[in-house]
Amino acid sequence: MHKVLARVWAAAAVSVALVGVAAAQAPAAAPFKVHDLKPNVYWVEGGGGNSGVIVGDKGVIVIDAKTTAAGGKELLDDIAKITPKPVTTVILTHSDGDHVNGLAAFPAGITIIAHENNKKEQEAAIAAGRGAPPPGHLPTQLATKNKESLKIDGVKVELLHWAPAHTSGDLVVYLPGQKIVFTGDIIAMQFADALIHLEKNGSSEGWIATTKGMTALNADQFVPGHGDVQKKDVLKKKLSDVEAKRAKIKDLVAQGKSLAEIRAAVGDPPPAPAGGRGPSFASFTEVVYRELTKKGS
Ligand SMILES: [Zn+2]
Repeated sequence: MHKVLARVWAAAAVSVALVGVAAAQAPAAAPFKVHDLKPNVYWVEGGGGNSGVIVGDKGVIVIDAKTTAAGGKELLDDIAKITPKPVTTVILTHSDGDHVNGLAAFPAGITIIAHENNKKEQEAAIAAGRGAPPPGHLPTQLATKNKESLKIDGVKVELLHWAPAHTSGDLVVYLPGQKIVFTGDIIAMQFADALIHLEKNGSSEGWIATTKGMTALNADQFVPGHGDVQKKDVLKKKLSDVEAKRAKIKDLVAQGKSLAEIRAAVGDPPPAPAGGRGPSFASFTEVVYRELTKKGS
């Protein structure tokens, strides 16, 4: 009895100490980290989704704008340490808040480029009171084709959209001169599976088509939406894993298995508890199951 009590007290003392440490550290978020990719091209880690920074002839092109106004400001401050040139253009890889909402700190009148469906998703979020795309910072230039080749501030930029993948409004940003691809959350390294927002009309088949397209590009650096820069072989491995898992789920659906049975069969961890921070994502297995059972009905 005594021993148990002593252990409980010891554990309580440790957790009080840890809470104290966490509370003391909480206010100071880690500063963003600016990483070199190639001359005049950087990626910035921290504060939500990764951002890209491309220094052009007269201005700066930014890819994705962080989660909050404070994050957007920190990104602009980091850019000011790289170059005195002004930010003139932002390209958005998709409409999620951790890539878009930091635009609140960006100057008015800049060009904001996005896929047309990205703008529709942001407008829907504003209308529904969901998320907080900053007013006055909606996309000003829309990509409507599968491939648009632009020259911005002397920099060749290709905007690519094979199919709805992570969302219906994905844009992959490819710099052919530098052989760099900004993938958005089509690649998010914290998840082994493909991350697909069904509520934004993403698609597992579209994800596979998109990732095949990205790995066919002449590129040697892939900046994901979250996580470190990757080489092409990592994306290829992820593609083949996702294709194999989707094929297995398809087989099981054809056999009439339930979602719970399929989850168990493919070895999914139990679904994350509701009520956590941020949107709760349907697992890849659930996404594919819902896609296939909908089509079959
Ligand atoms: Zn996202």
